[in-house]
Amino acid sequence: MPEGDTLHNVALRLRPALEDRELVAVSLPRLRGMDRLKPGDVVVRVQSRGKYLEIEVERGLILRSHLRMTGSWDLYARGARWRKPRHLARAVLETAESVAVCFAAPVVAIGRRGDGELDHLGPDLCVDPVDVDEILRRVENWADPGAEIGDVLLDQRLAAGIGNVYKCEALFVCGVDPHAPLESVAPETRRRLYETAALQLQSNLGRDRRVTLGDGLAVYGRHRQGCRACGTGLRSASSGVHGRQTWWCPKCQAPVV
Ligand SMILES: [Zn+2]
Repeated sequence: MPEGDTLHNVALRLRPALEDRELVAVSLPRLRGMDRLKPGDVVVRVQSRGKYLEIEVERGLILRSHLRMTGSWDLYARGARWRKPRHLARAVLETAESVAVCFAAPVVAIGRRGDGELDHLGPDLCVDPVDVDEILRRVENWADPGAEIGDVLLDQRLAAGIGNVYKCEALFVCGVDPHAPLESVAPETRRRLYETAALQLQSNLGRDRRVTLGDGLAVYGRHRQGCRACGTGLRSASSGVHGRQTWWCPKCQAPVV
């Protein structure tokens, strides 16, 4: 699952190539129906919303993609060789100068300006300032008090943008056990978790490599390595209702007893 900063960076890359440009060729091989982007459409907006990328044309139609684990957007000069095979392309948008290709995204759909399709998403943590009060209200009203805090952070209805990486990294910075039930996490700690994730996401916008601590990540993906704060061996396990692999320090993030 990509993080919100991935989609934000995709939007940054595609925007100069697509915005205010006319599409000269469009291919959406898996989409049925007449309502679709077509040659002659002018792109008016490229933006990320949570983990979705939206490409909107003048007529008010929006191409929405969600990359989940497998998808990507590439940008090429016309005629350049693609990095992945053509049969994986789910959307190809060509302008006079460049070709934007969406490979293997499980979700590619057409929507309409103002259709409310993404209204279920919580405040976007990649967009400053973040309405943390609204996020905490959503957590209070909608989240299961018994849910693991790691799962709560991944719930895009509460706040949009946190994937598995920033889940692990924010929990480490705040010293919270990923498996702690939400009801055991104090309101000020909840606030700190979302503020930390927002800061981490925003400070990685436009970067090729994610950094949350020193020159890399604090815990995510650091198999059998020592904690950067205390030296204790990091632990990892598949956690939560979705079984996402989670890394944490058993000392710095000790369960509250
Ligand atoms: Zn530690």
